[in-house]
Amino acid sequence: MQTVTTSSLLHHLQCSHCGHSFDPLPGQTLSVCCQAPLLCCYDLDEHRFSKRELSAGPQSLWRYEKLLPVFQEQNRISLGEGWTPLLPLPRLASDYGLQHLTLKDEGLNPTGSFKARGLCLAISKAKENGEEACIIPTAGNAGVAMAAYCARAGLEAVVVMPRHTPDAFKEECLAYHARLILVDGLINDCAAKVQALNQKSGYFDVSTLKEPYRLEGKKTMGYEIAEQLTWQLPDVILYPTGGGTGLIGIWKAFHEMKALGWLSEHQRFPRMVAVQAENCRPVVDTFHGKQANSKQYVGKPTLANGLAVPRPIGEPLMLTVLRESGGTALAVSEDDMIEGVSELSRREGIFAAPEGGALWAATKQLLRQGWIRPAEQVLLLNTGSGQKYLDNLKGKWRS
Ligand SMILES: *Cc1c(COP(=O)(O)O)cnc(C)c1O
Ligand SMILES: [Zn+2]
Repeated sequence: MQTVTTSSLLHHLQCSHCGHSFDPLPGQTLSVCCQAPLLCCYDLDEHRFSKRELSAGPQSLWRYEKLLPVFQEQNRISLGEGWTPLLPLPRLASDYGLQHLTLKDEGLNPTGSFKARGLCLAISKAKENGEEACIIPTAGNAGVAMAAYCARAGLEAVVVMPRHTPDAFKEECLAYHARLILVDGLINDCAAKVQALNQKSGYFDVSTLKEPYRLEGKKTMGYEIAEQLTWQLPDVILYPTGGGTGLIGIWKAFHEMKALGWLSEHQRFPRMVAVQAENCRPVVDTFHGKQANSKQYVGKPTLANGLAVPRPIGEPLMLTVLRESGGTALAVSEDDMIEGVSELSRREGIFAAPEGGALWAATKQLLRQGWIRPAEQVLLLNTGSGQKYLDNLKGKWRS
């Protein structure tokens, strides 16, 4: 096949802990210096990428190709991910006295969640780096997305998932011909299983933040939010937080856009809100000083399986985002997230995942506390569709 080079401006990888630089060579996982996540750094200069060029780009996350890490076009593995709509929520806004309430609907991505963005880039780079088989510990959606992109790339896929995950997630992985391994416990127990398996086999581990490229896929949400709002950022963004790649990635995108000169000098960055489930609230507890960190946190399963991440490796990066942005962290109950899903469906016709329902429940809490003011621009990042969760949601609707 003919090799066509992309216009990627990727320059080097940087240790998120000490700042040490590395070449973006194949096989990069955590930094060798600090065992911390590696971040992609680009040549950020308005002359190399002007936002005026965007109008000619595809209606997918590949419109930001220069700020993505894939070097050769034939390694771009795409299923139409990204460029999801920003939907105003006028009925809910008027029910609760908010003036500007919007939802970015990531449920419309391939495989029904925003995990498609991250896995699209991780699997494209795995292919570019010559990997043949990938493995992932997952709470559900990431495994499905990895299985789909591996199928499209012609790579082998191994998905390690909690046994209690709804069948829809498992069946879709099997449809993509992934090998599915079920584990009793949560995603951290799946991660331990992946490490044990990898003592013997050479699968490439695409766990959250353990390779540098999922984050690059997720950051495109930040670019899209800015571009879709014609470069005026909202006041508050609520994000359902598990491993935190979206939170960290969106914040990275805002900084990159600033360096590119795409935002006005006076543009304030949004206050970022991490929303978790009462059943698994490690970042909320650390943020509010109830524990030093979540290294020993023990979580319980939640309907919002994407939030069941008890010991996220990216916690220090998430805390930096919350503090730098003047944001906050809060948890919602299982009942409140179901009521959130129900209200979004009933009032706006949007069938969100419980993770998305949790955002609306959190918005109401913050509005009651006065932390969100009625005139502020509030954006909910609905990370997934409710469709795969029906086993756990059926019978919960008001008659
Ligand atoms: C994975 C997932 C999350 C959490 O995303 P992180 O990037 O791990 O914080 C939220 N919602 C859904 C639907 C998910 O699948
Ligand atoms: Zn380091």
